Amino acid sequence: MKTVSTNNWLVPALAIIISITSCKTQEKATVSEEVAPVEAAAEEETPAVETREYQAAYTRTFDLIHTSLDVRFDWEKQQLIGKAQLTLTPYFYDTDQLTLDAKGFELRSVSLKNQESLKPLKYDYDGQKMNIALDRVYTRKDTLKVWVDYVAKPEELDAEGSAAIMDAKGLYFINPLGEDKNKPKQIWTQGETESSSCWFPTIDAPNENMTQDIKITVDSRYVTLSNGLLVSSKPNGDGTRTDLWKQSLPHAPYLAMMAIGEFAVVKDKWKGIDVDYYVEPEYEPHAKAIFGETPAMLDFYSDVLKYPYAWEKYSQVVVRDYVSGAMENTTATIHGEFLHRTDRELLDGDNERIIAHELFHHWFGDLVTCESWSNLPLNESFATYGEYLWLEHRHGIDEADKHGDEQMRQYFASVAQTGHLNMVRFYYDNKEDMFDAHSYNKGGRILHMLRKTIGDEAFFEGLNLYLNENKFQAVEMHQLRLAMEEVTGMDLNWFFNQWFFNKGHADLSVSHTYDAATKKYAITISQNQDLKEMPLYRIPMDVDIYFGGAVNRHRIDLTEVEQTFEFDVLGQPQLVLVDAENILLGTKNETLTEDEYVFMLKNAPRYLDKVEAMNGLKGSSSDDAVTAMLNLLDDEYWGTRRKALQALKSKSVADTSLLKNKLMWLAQKDPKSSVRAEAISFLAERFSKGESTRTIIEGAMKDRSYNVLGATLKAISEYDTDRALSLAKEAEADASGSLISAIASLYSKKGGSEHLDFFLNSISKVSDPNDKYVFVQIFGKYLIGQDFSAQLKGLPTLKDLALNEGAWWMRLSAIQVLNGLRQNAEPIDVEEAKTLVNEINLVMDEVRAKETNQMIKGMIGE
Ligand SMILES: [Zn+2]
Repeated sequence: MKTVSTNNWLVPALAIIISITSCKTQEKATVSEEVAPVEAAAEEETPAVETREYQAAYTRTFDLIHTSLDVRFDWEKQQLIGKAQLTLTPYFYDTDQLTLDAKGFELRSVSLKNQESLKPLKYDYDGQKMNIALDRVYTRKDTLKVWVDYVAKPEELDAEGSAAIMDAKGLYFINPLGEDKNKPKQIWTQGETESSSCWFPTIDAPNENMTQDIKITVDSRYVTLSNGLLVSSKPNGDGTRTDLWKQSLPHAPYLAMMAIGEFAVVKDKWKGIDVDYYVEPEYEPHAKAIFGETPAMLDFYSDVLKYPYAWEKYSQVVVRDYVSGAMENTTATIHGEFLHRTDRELLDGDNERIIAHELFHHWFGDLVTCESWSNLPLNESFATYGEYLWLEHRHGIDEADKHGDEQMRQYFASVAQTGHLNMVRFYYDNKEDMFDAHSYNKGGRILHMLRKTIGDEAFFEGLNLYLNENKFQAVEMHQLRLAMEEVTGMDLNWFFNQWFFNKGHADLSVSHTYDAATKKYAITISQNQDLKEMPLYRIPMDVDIYFGGAVNRHRIDLTEVEQTFEFDVLGQPQLVLVDAENILLGTKNETLTEDEYVFMLKNAPRYLDKVEAMNGLKGSSSDDAVTAMLNLLDDEYWGTRRKALQALKSKSVADTSLLKNKLMWLAQKDPKSSVRAEAISFLAERFSKGESTRTIIEGAMKDRSYNVLGATLKAISEYDTDRALSLAKEAEADASGSLISAIASLYSKKGGSEHLDFFLNSISKVSDPNDKYVFVQIFGKYLIGQDFSAQLKGLPTLKDLALNEGAWWMRLSAIQVLNGLRQNAEPIDVEEAKTLVNEINLVMDEVRAKETNQMIKGMIGE
């Protein structure tokens, strides 16, 4: 899943959500823009491993073979009325006891089904588990059918306030009474990690594996979606309809799903398999633009793994108020509403990575499932690496490397908060903690290193073997190692031990020497990571030696604390590039000469090399360096062009007309909106006094990209506030994405209370979680600058966010703003300030009564 999680690596007061990738929890939640000094806290929160409980895989006493459900809903009470029939067989040992997970149920009856007759069974039920006394001892040659008649009450789960459940209600009713006119009525489920048992009785463990069919009865106007195929759809003659969904291939119970709502279904195909996109009707015209790469992804993953997509169909649905980023329910992925984008919004960025991530789970996660949450990297590291693979295939190595590098930096940022953790983690406090930047980001980088260590062909052969040997089964990390060992003939314990069963990353320093007399070139590499906590790594990597117009590659094998590698050369190389494939999971401290960096800028092939060179030339304004950077403005990769723009901003450029011409060209013609936006801000910063520049900048207000419009508005506000305010007013009605943020920023700095309506009206238009978090923060800044009556008018909106937003970080954002307003008003002795403080206190009381997220609860106090 791609998630946004309740992970402890968010620093509430300072965090800005920068990226939400996909899957259940992290998927990734958040990276703080300013990282608070939390080392002390991290130490406190990380007791010695021995004090934590070993998290064993669940013992399998029964094998759950098939689940058959018949469900309908009471929207008003937010309950599911269900009948379940489970087909089971003892796993190995004889038994007369069956334990099922069933969270927050009202149980009407539990029976043994024999042909058509039901024999009531005795059971104990504590609200979480049913212990059923069977009528006799069963052996593994027996198959039994257990029948459960029940009502699932997810809302009452929260009322019980179980700390472990937090947001994990499993079954969610959105706008159930239709009171919110701006929100559709929907029902959807979220099973991972162990919440499917909030809506049907099951063995809620990742090492369980079942087929299923679900009969869903709904009001005829609703569309339903579940796993597998829709095998029948029958009107009942009373305004309701019953859909039967059947999945004939086994999967883990946490992957079961339902979504119900008034969706438009846009149809696509892949090799005869239905590929459907369920969106709100408003987004029907954009569904292909949002999801259209899905068939190409199915092609690519099937080919590269030499293992065709295994399932019966592939659907994706966008739901409201989703609790995570996205979730890889088998054949029926759920996405948060930030996937809803118009084709115009898609000009500024799509969610292809998330779509790829969830799809790749259908091999790694759904087809082969982690045996326990301790082994979560077998799901999430792969899905994260699936993003890299897709980007490399579709958009080229530079785009993939850029993404991989960003992910590694997010992992570094998270380490600053959580400390170093094992990847396969048998000791944790809460299974939800596994959904972190280790399991996702770091794991993705480890897999990339594995691929580059053993070679592409071996890596993909190994994955193929792993899938074939473990399909429809639960595995632990060793199965992956064994597959890779079988293919390569190598013992790979060293690789798996240091990366997956240990913690930390490499911290290298590299120095270079050349001996002209002997024509020997030497590289000395030291490993500086704390060896008490982290391994001494073995890292095979490539070294490229550039000499006389040729480049020679050498493979070195770093194994020691300090190690020198010597190469015979024909003369002094122009450049020696250590880790030429940029695979290192860790930091590399290395200083080259200015000439070498300039050479690297001109000759090294990859985006990350060029970034490294630009960083190396930060302090330089030599003509050579500046000329090389100017040339990169024509690079074929947009990321390089943008990075060169950023690097040049701090340089004095002698040929101003060349620079200006290039900027004007990029501002108007670059195919990538983020490059146009960057060029406009650069142009405004350096040349805004000129009439011709101002004409070009104002001309950019006709761009289709919201990103460009936002940058343009900001640029104009730097030299003509009144003009910017009037352009903002004109742009308000049609604004979206970063344009909304830019207008909001402008108003928060310059605007009066006449802009309050813009904020109140815009909030529902911001669907991207990052944008929305930021928007609420800017709204807070704006309100602080207004009088108390305006603040009071803003209160209902903040209250609604604080109480009703599905995503915890949005509730948090609103609560932060409310706190800020209260602190601002408290010392002031006027009636309106007192009213405001009272009103905010009342909202906080409501939040306290309703909030289930532990982190928010901790912040507001019990
Ligand atoms: Zn995932």
